[in-house]
Amino acid sequence: MANSKPVLIPILGDQLSRDLSSLAGVDAENAVLLMMEVDEETTYVRHHKAKIAFILAAMRHHAEDMQDRGWTVDYVKLDDPDNSGSFSGEIARAIERHDPASICVTEPGEWRVRAMMEEWEEKFGIKVEICPDSRFLCDHAEFEEWAEGRKQLRMEYFYREMRRKTGLLMDGDDPEGGKWNYDQDNRKPADQDLFMPKPIAFRPDETTQEVLDLVADRFADHPGGLDNFQFAITRAEALRARRHFLDECLARFGDYQDAMLTGEPFLYHSLLSPYLNIGLLDPVDLCREAEKKYAEGDAPLNAVEGFIRQIIGWREYVRGIYWREGPDYAENNFFDAARDLPDFYYSGDTDMHCLSQAIGQTLDYAYAHHIQRLMITGTFALLAGVDPHQLHIWYLEVYADAYEWVEVPNTVGMSQFADGGLLASKPYAASGNYINKMSDYCSHCRYDVKAKTGEDACPFNALYWDFLARNEEKLGDNRRLAMPYRTWAKKEKGEKIALRNSARSFLESLD
Ligand SMILES: Cc1cc2nc3c(=O)[nH]c(=O)nc-3n(C[C@H](O)[C@H](O)[C@H](O)COP(=O)(O)OP(=O)(O)OC[C@H]3O[C@@H](n4cnc5c(N)ncnc54)[C@H](O)[C@@H]3O)c2cc1C
Ligand code: SF4
Repeated sequence: MANSKPVLIPILGDQLSRDLSSLAGVDAENAVLLMMEVDEETTYVRHHKAKIAFILAAMRHHAEDMQDRGWTVDYVKLDDPDNSGSFSGEIARAIERHDPASICVTEPGEWRVRAMMEEWEEKFGIKVEICPDSRFLCDHAEFEEWAEGRKQLRMEYFYREMRRKTGLLMDGDDPEGGKWNYDQDNRKPADQDLFMPKPIAFRPDETTQEVLDLVADRFADHPGGLDNFQFAITRAEALRARRHFLDECLARFGDYQDAMLTGEPFLYHSLLSPYLNIGLLDPVDLCREAEKKYAEGDAPLNAVEGFIRQIIGWREYVRGIYWREGPDYAENNFFDAARDLPDFYYSGDTDMHCLSQAIGQTLDYAYAHHIQRLMITGTFALLAGVDPHQLHIWYLEVYADAYEWVEVPNTVGMSQFADGGLLASKPYAASGNYINKMSDYCSHCRYDVKAKTGEDACPFNALYWDFLARNEEKLGDNRRLAMPYRTWAKKEKGEKIALRNSARSFLESLD
């Protein structure tokens, strides 16, 4: 260690990248990396056991990796008897241990933690530098500039800017193939297929096993299980997971992106979001690898464009919204929805097969793919009038990839329309018909997807019309809902009453 006072560099659990902005230009000889496992972060919501285990195991491996690369790492374990339980408490203790000249930290992914960091300078009387997170393509100022003066912040236009900026799938100034977006080729239902790729599974090593035991013991009352824990934990493993996706799944990713099948939690999805969000994989590198697959003729344009759009489009865009809209965005509740989240969101115990599949696999794997999150658990909560804040907490708890910057806009904006249409042009409301078209769930369900009312009718059907009817004042002038509202207006009074009564008695059965 050099003679001068070191810089203290806290590394948070989702900042496990070797080239983090807070490390740029720092001399390893004169720095202490502080990694903290703290109770406050593991329990401020009841995170899925597998999510906690994934983060802690990846942190411990990252600490070893950074040490091997010559950094001094001060690592505080969760069960360290002196652990104060909070980031601020651990910073205070680390200042005593290391007497640093200053603190340098990469900005966090949550308003709550940002506010905490902003207090440190005054609280500890030490210079604190909060660096922008350079792992994203679009920084706050650039998003602000793009959003400024626009009435609606549509992802599609933002995405085109990111294509131009990166040159991904560009042919000079034009999009590859002549179109920006090939989504209309991407909505095929899937069939059970014996050759469906299985996800690559990683066996826990000793360090990970120690974490799994700690989590099983300490977080027994948190949702979800650890039996299927098979995450990549290191950068090398995450790169193998990336290769597996590119070689085995990408070519069919587009076609079956929206499909759902009983007993098939993963289909052709990448399962890479936990690694991207924690910093083990770089998003733009991943997109360049996907682009190569197209250039080499191994994957069609609709698949590769669709995949790249999710990452440089949706992922960057929702982050921009999160930071632009401020800490109160998560409190939006456009429909004044107040129903408690049904208990079955924590057990999967419901006769609605679509929900029991999506929730069951969530509890088993801390994973559900986008359409399951949006059109099953999300749409049901929207139609049933569930309090969006409670739903936001659920999504934040149960998915291994869930951090507020990405979860909140997806839940509050996209899935619940609780921001009144800032993010989505219409609510993702749908009847059982959509689920029947995109999955085989209905053929395994005790409810009849074709029936509109009555005890055996698919609950989504009456709930759909009830949702439109009860929110007509707020949604009636939405042009994208003109057709369903015309259909509703044309219905006989008796049918309307029967649909609304059916919805009411179903909702009462939830209470
Ligand atoms: C209600 C709701 C909550 C969500 N919460 C989260 C969350 O907490 N964390 C999270 O990473 N994603 C979230 N998503 C987005 C999306 O569902 C997941 O990114 C995706 O399911 C992750 O699985 P995958 O890696 O197999 O994705 P793939 O289907 O293989 O997609 C590739 C990548 O694109 C990115 N991506 C795709 N869609 C989105 C999106 N809408 N927003 C941001 N990135 C996207 C992800 O990084 C993903 O890994 C949420 C979506 C909804 C509707
Ligand atoms: S019938 Fe309705 S409740 Fe059952 S799986 Fe289909 S959409 Fe879901």
